[in-house]
Amino acid sequence: MKFYSTKGQVEPVNFQETIFRGLPADNGLFMPEMIPTLPSSFFDELPQMTLPEIGFEVLRHFVDGEIPDDELKTIVEETLSFDIPLAKINDSVYALELFHGPTMAFKDVGARFLARCLSYFTKKNHRKLTVLVATSGDTGSAVANGFFNVDDIEVVILYPSGKVSGFQEQQMTTLGGNITALEVDGTFDDCQALVKQAFLDDNLREAKQLTSANSINIARLLPQSIYYFYAWAQLPADLKTEAVFSVPSGNYGNLSAGLIAQKMGLPIKHFLACSNSNDTVPMYLWNGKFEPKPSVATISNAMDVGNPSNFFRMLDLFDGSYKKMINQVTGYAYTDDTTRDAIRKTYALYGYILDPHGAVGYLGLMDYFRSQTATGIVLETAHPIKFKQTVEEQILRDVPVPDHVQVTHLEKKSIPFKADIDAFRTFLKEK
Ligand SMILES: *Cc1c(COP(=O)(O)O)cnc(C)c1O
Repeated sequence: MKFYSTKGQVEPVNFQETIFRGLPADNGLFMPEMIPTLPSSFFDELPQMTLPEIGFEVLRHFVDGEIPDDELKTIVEETLSFDIPLAKINDSVYALELFHGPTMAFKDVGARFLARCLSYFTKKNHRKLTVLVATSGDTGSAVANGFFNVDDIEVVILYPSGKVSGFQEQQMTTLGGNITALEVDGTFDDCQALVKQAFLDDNLREAKQLTSANSINIARLLPQSIYYFYAWAQLPADLKTEAVFSVPSGNYGNLSAGLIAQKMGLPIKHFLACSNSNDTVPMYLWNGKFEPKPSVATISNAMDVGNPSNFFRMLDLFDGSYKKMINQVTGYAYTDDTTRDAIRKTYALYGYILDPHGAVGYLGLMDYFRSQTATGIVLETAHPIKFKQTVEEQILRDVPVPDHVQVTHLEKKSIPFKADIDAFRTFLKEK
């Protein structure tokens, strides 16, 4: 399978090149040339299949033999070594709990798959690779965890000093080995600027094979389709025709992955694109105008994105047509106060603890239900423990600590770093 750029100015490339490059040189986004429709036998068997079995069936069409089937099976099994259960909140709403992986957010799925695919190709072709990631928290921890101890791949994480949570900093800075954390004296934007400048430096790119592990990379996106199939498989049989997915969104990777699952034949009735006050995409869905703006800080901070990069993938999936998009996707946006209310009420009424991101998705369903009947599935993108204080202020009790989280007290090994491109260049060259 070849992958083309949404801007159409570069030649389509195979899976390996697509994931090594991350971004096409024309600054578009890579998309698969063909999205296969899966046979009806697949959908009949789906309820009996395990999560990795579904994963293999979905992904093998895109990888298209570049990784042999038995290797791909192993990669998918290792990627999805934790469950993604569908929890019932009430008779019409289910939560797809994407937080049972090591860093307790859905980003584990994409980061683990990308790391293993890159590792397969570096081994096979004796390539070495340096992965650069600028992070405001969640991406860095998922990437650090996903790439830890992967041979021939060095990971450099840049995070803004003092601006990530203690838990996230623990996960990014204590691993050591092939993971280096630079604690940048500056903001997230400063970190991102350093990474961008490094990518634009031809000299450096010649000396080092650099790639990015942000959500633009198609190998992070494609495995996210898997859990839409798995969620649908877990729904009671009589509810399967009415499935509406509500997706709390920032860069719209999750939503794009859902649209891909639908194109592969999954009978999804409708999508809800739910945001916090960073409402660029809901606004587009309301008035047809895509107007990126600076991000504003909210309590659902992993969705604080004013210029969502995967929007152009969404548009591409609808052949550039606004009309087609609004036929399948409805937008909703909520303030922090409304989000807090939703956390409190959902706990009071049903005993279910939502995190602030899932709460935004839950609110979208409540509004959708005013005019439609359906079975709602909200993507619970993070565990509420990651937003302990915000959540506990609403539910007035402790959030239980999940079993799979080991609280480590390892020593932080970050390198304090000035937001200076020359210093960063020198650092990378000497590494
Ligand atoms: C990254 C993230 C999001 C946003 O997902 P996109 O795919 O970028 O839309 C939502 N919730 C949580 C908890 C996240 O970490």
